[in-house]
Amino acid sequence: MSTTDFTIKAGSVPACPKCGNQQHFRAHSERVAEDCCEVWVTCRCGHDLTQDDNSERMEDVWGALDRETIINAMRCTWISLLPATTTAPAGA
Ligand SMILES: [Zn+2]
Repeated sequence: MSTTDFTIKAGSVPACPKCGNQQHFRAHSERVAEDCCEVWVTCRCGHDLTQDDNSERMEDVWGALDRETIINAMRCTWISLLPATTTAPAGA
């Protein structure tokens, strides 16, 4: 498994329900089959929204942790799994 730490703009994603972090995350990539990797994002505190249901993890042929893959993984394994209660103020 490989991981990459990344930082995103404050207020652009829902905060971690455990620690309130909105900026510092870690992307994970793990090969699960010959031509399939799972990619997902966790908080820097280790909170993993896909821990109990890893069917939510994004499938990717290469599992490369490049910017585009990380953004897609952020969208489907973090943003879409949290209620959007902590977004940036409108018009900010
Ligand atoms: Zn956290």
